[in-house]
Amino acid sequence: MTAPRPTASPVGSRTSCCRICGAPSLEPVLDLGAQPLANSLVRREDLAQPEARYPLLLCRCARCGHVQLSVTVSPEIMFRVYPYVSGTSETLPRHFVDYARDIAERFLGGEGFVVEIGSNDGTLLRAFDRKRIKVLGVEPATNVAKIAEDAGIPTRNAFFGESLARAIRADEGPANAIIGNNVVAHIDDLHDLARAIDVLLAPDGVFVAEFPYLVDMLQGVEYDTIYHEHLNYFSVAAVADLFGRFGLTLFYVRRTSVHGGSIRIFVGRRRETERPLTELRSLEARLALAEGTPLAAFARSVERQRDELVAMVERFRREGRRLAGYGAAAKGNTLLNYCGIGERQLEFIADRSPLKQGLFTPGGHVPVRGPEALLEERPDYALLLAWNLADEIFRQQVDYRQAGGRFIVPIPRPHVL
Ligand code: ZN
Repeated sequence: MTAPRPTASPVGSRTSCCRICGAPSLEPVLDLGAQPLANSLVRREDLAQPEARYPLLLCRCARCGHVQLSVTVSPEIMFRVYPYVSGTSETLPRHFVDYARDIAERFLGGEGFVVEIGSNDGTLLRAFDRKRIKVLGVEPATNVAKIAEDAGIPTRNAFFGESLARAIRADEGPANAIIGNNVVAHIDDLHDLARAIDVLLAPDGVFVAEFPYLVDMLQGVEYDTIYHEHLNYFSVAAVADLFGRFGLTLFYVRRTSVHGGSIRIFVGRRRETERPLTELRSLEARLALAEGTPLAAFARSVERQRDELVAMVERFRREGRRLAGYGAAAKGNTLLNYCGIGERQLEFIADRSPLKQGLFTPGGHVPVRGPEALLEERPDYALLLAWNLADEIFRQQVDYRQAGGRFIVPIPRPHVL
């Protein structure tokens, strides 16, 4: 591929140097084209307006190997209003209950002070025993922060960084645990994040964060994990490198199945690391991830997957079949816009979130309706965009399936279930 485009970026965005080592040497891996923001659903009255599009270009740092996006869209544009609320899916809250128990038992001895960054509607913090554990959320999306406050979760409506960390420490004391659930990948200034953790964390405190794992994304051909909000695609080696620069140690890591394969990292001030960390670093060494070896194969697999999905959809349409989609999540919009699938191919997309129903997907302008639309309209096929929640959706849509409806699962290779 050619070198990244020069520094002229669309309004509201800029081209970055490596977010870990600072080198101005990002090499392109996969170009997903100019895409609208994956969470910026469109209102009916705005459908005729032009949508802002930004380059969606996955890159790798030639110096340190960190995989990241080259173009940063202003967080004020991406995160001040946010349609995604954790509580609307059944799978995530159960996962959060286990997550909260894990942290409380291993690191808090049942009491202490927990801060969550990117706390969304407060679902995870609600899972802690708040009689014994003080909790505080930090959430930049004003509409979502208010939902959490209304549910009784103290929440700062702000972006997390070093200055906010100092303010929280002055007001509330040091945190025994800081949690970042699917938020670290979103952060542009990773050095500011690491400094903020160092400022706010108690001497024996732990920073626990979970985000999609680069190895899972590559091996599962999960390119729909890539959207403008996800600026970073971490290997274990990159995480250790980042925090190590600030005197913090990545001492433990666990793989989880959330979002198509994630890692939960544990960072603190102690020195010794634990075995799972060594095992994943060996895995990454075997794959030659630091040298970027698996990335070219990933890019080829993504193109093949797109071609197969487009061919399948076109064949069904030629046969007169009716198609819809399921799951108006951000990841689905990356896939739809990269494949050029929109309102011409899909009659609607079903989604359980009331915040999304009545809106239209960015780029392709497919109307979003409630899940009952599948039974009312009976499309022959539903393209499963939220494939990471497949089990839950198949369970909920048993009536649609018994009525003859079938699901197209796009990933890792498109197939019909
Ligand atoms: Zn770098």
